[in-house]
Amino acid sequence: MEEARKRIAELDERIKTSMSKIKHKLVVLSGKGGVGKSTVTVNLAVALAMRGRAQMVGVLDADITGPSIPKMMGIRHEQLDVSAGAIVPVTAALGIKVVSMDFLLYSDEMAVIWRGPLKSMAIKQFLGEVQWGELEYLLIDLPPGTGDEALTIAQSIPKIDGAVIVTIPSEVSQLVVKKAVTFARHLNIPVVGIVENMSGFVCPKCGAEVDILGSGGGLKIALDLNVPFLGRVPIDPRIRKGCDEGAPFVIRYPDSPATKSFTEIVEKIERFVEKGEKPS
Ligand code: ADP
Repeated sequence: MEEARKRIAELDERIKTSMSKIKHKLVVLSGKGGVGKSTVTVNLAVALAMRGRAQMVGVLDADITGPSIPKMMGIRHEQLDVSAGAIVPVTAALGIKVVSMDFLLYSDEMAVIWRGPLKSMAIKQFLGEVQWGELEYLLIDLPPGTGDEALTIAQSIPKIDGAVIVTIPSEVSQLVVKKAVTFARHLNIPVVGIVENMSGFVCPKCGAEVDILGSGGGLKIALDLNVPFLGRVPIDPRIRKGCDEGAPFVIRYPDSPATKSFTEIVEKIERFVEKGEKPS
């Protein structure tokens, strides 16, 4: 028991060292899967990097239930360099440094540990071995939901500056947002705010706005739970296409309404993290 406690303290110290040159760390979470959490993470990272932070943004794909960030960023076939005894992130567009915990699942040895009681140790060991270097922002894409996996990972990362919660507009997803807010509060992570993704659809042919999944649910739940609302991102088939093709939407369509939303959300995040201003 004493031995295990010592080992955990050692690993926590390594994680602290590995993340010591990162100025701001944010987790991106959702109450359930499929709401666009990873899509939002990728596009927020790109939008942050585009604002004068080339080489200074990182993404940790910790969504071990379905790691999709490498695919969305067009680096799926690249491998983490572990030759020097540490994990070196893969560099994507705009110098964004990406580490996917996918790596843990692909090693046979790790897959065994993964199913066993040593899971949290394996996560900590992995996190402690990444050489992030100097970064201004690290976005951490957590597993969906508020279960054990998300908890273990969030608890392993020291001093998280804030949580961005992604939802879709419908009623059911409002209920799960509540869980996500409770999750962040339980971990003492300040909630930066809620992003309502897939909110409305603007017909590219006639310009009419159609609320396919409804809209306004994110704002309503933000008001109900007394947390800030960060903005709405519309449904745009080009977002899905960009994800599938590994070309982040914000880079490809800098003048679209969805890019404008991502940029405005990033501005609010910056003001929150850097100046302590609560988004309104
Ligand atoms: P999650 O991480 O919450 O499981 P993903 O980010 O993987 O969700 O998104 C699920 C699917 O929805 C993906 O195919 C993605 O391309 C698509 N998607 C996400 N947001 C949008 C959007 N605003 N418009 C169109 N497609 C979207």
